[in-house]
Amino acid sequence: MSETIFSKIIRGEIPCHHVYEDDAVLAFLDVNPLSRGHTLVIPKEVAKTLDQLSDEASAAIGRVLPKIARAVLAATGATSFNVLQNNGADAHQAVFHVHFHIIPKVEGRGLGIGWEPMKVETADLKALREKIARCAAAETQKG
Ligand code: AMP
Repeated sequence: MSETIFSKIIRGEIPCHHVYEDDAVLAFLDVNPLSRGHTLVIPKEVAKTLDQLSDEASAAIGRVLPKIARAVLAATGATSFNVLQNNGADAHQAVFHVHFHIIPKVEGRGLGIGWEPMKVETADLKALREKIARCAAAETQKG
């Protein structure tokens, strides 16, 4: 697994503006924020993308995300926020260690979203549903 700047931050070799830490999770301010309070929440487990993360690390980060979101809202006075989680270079991932962005809407700043829905046939939805449900069941069986 390749080394990233986030591994160095976890090991304390590089400083960060940390806001939360426990055995499995670290949260710190993004140094190139989209808005004031833009925070990154990362598992200490090394995994490039979300699909590679263990159930244990996923549970740990899932427990922490709402707490950090509440803290960011309380500290910034924001009432709206986005959670962004990029996986793969084509999906805008730049640091290849799983991380969740918590991006509050502050003073008109925050995450800009280009959302262009495509047309889809019902038959395609049905076929996809079947295929993904089968794959999800296989994933669940793996444990
Ligand atoms: P992503 O495009 O989802 O991989 O986003 C990576 C994020 O990490 C970017 O928003 C960067 O600004 C942020 N980032 C990179 N290095 C650091 C660092 N040393 N401390 C805090 N944030 C960082």
